Amino acid sequence: MRSVLAGFAFFSLLAGLPVLAAERDTLYQVSAIDGLMVGLYDGVTTIGELRTHGDFGIGTFHGLDGEMLVLDGTVFQIPADGKVRQVADSATTPFASVSFFESEQILQLAGLDQAGLTRALDQRIGTDNIPYAVRMEGQFKRVRTRSVPRQTPPYAPLAEVAKKQSVFEFETVRGVMVGYRLPSLMGRINVPGYHLHFITDDHTAGGHVLDFEVAAVTVALDALPHFRMVLPTTEAFRAADLRRDRAAELKKVEQ
Ligand SMILES: [Zn+2]
Repeated sequence: MRSVLAGFAFFSLLAGLPVLAAERDTLYQVSAIDGLMVGLYDGVTTIGELRTHGDFGIGTFHGLDGEMLVLDGTVFQIPADGKVRQVADSATTPFASVSFFESEQILQLAGLDQAGLTRALDQRIGTDNIPYAVRMEGQFKRVRTRSVPRQTPPYAPLAEVAKKQSVFEFETVRGVMVGYRLPSLMGRINVPGYHLHFITDDHTAGGHVLDFEVAAVTVALDALPHFRMVLPTTEAFRAADLRRDRAAELKKVEQ
């Protein structure tokens, strides 16, 4: 019995709290992307709570105040002014995805543009139907990112806000891309395909990845067959009309 229990639970070094093995293969998601699409930007979960469900991930903050990147348990905010800061546990998020990153497959890739690199990863992953965490670290020839400006109520839809995004260009830069490759079947609740956020090695710049070309990177993959989505019980979420398929609109916003 003891060995069975030991197999199921071990200790997270960061939080010092026990984490079940199943939770370590779980993509934990706050709210649904279509909520963000219609302008539900009020934070519904604290960063402190989010960190109990993962040490790796992406998202945004209360008021759509920039891009979130979670790396090795540290939560970074990349606002529209481009100045990266670490985030306190008391801050909140309206939409985020996190997991406990455990490298299961590693690839060394060099000299590829975004299309070539994602083709190589697609081939290695070999299915569209299981979520994967993607961590890509190394030297990039170029990276183009964006961040979104903080909003105040009444909130405009994401497609409107995205028109005012800040775009950042990096050349010959070292850094890490953090994110997920999600199944088509998860469209409407999250972003299907690749969704990556970037931070430079010195943690001073980054953003939501629009385009890139790698010089030489190490890519680590982590399959996440479990999925947990926690929907807000706020009046705003209950009242939102989320019946329409916004896939085309989402594609415009995320690229
Ligand atoms: Zn993003």
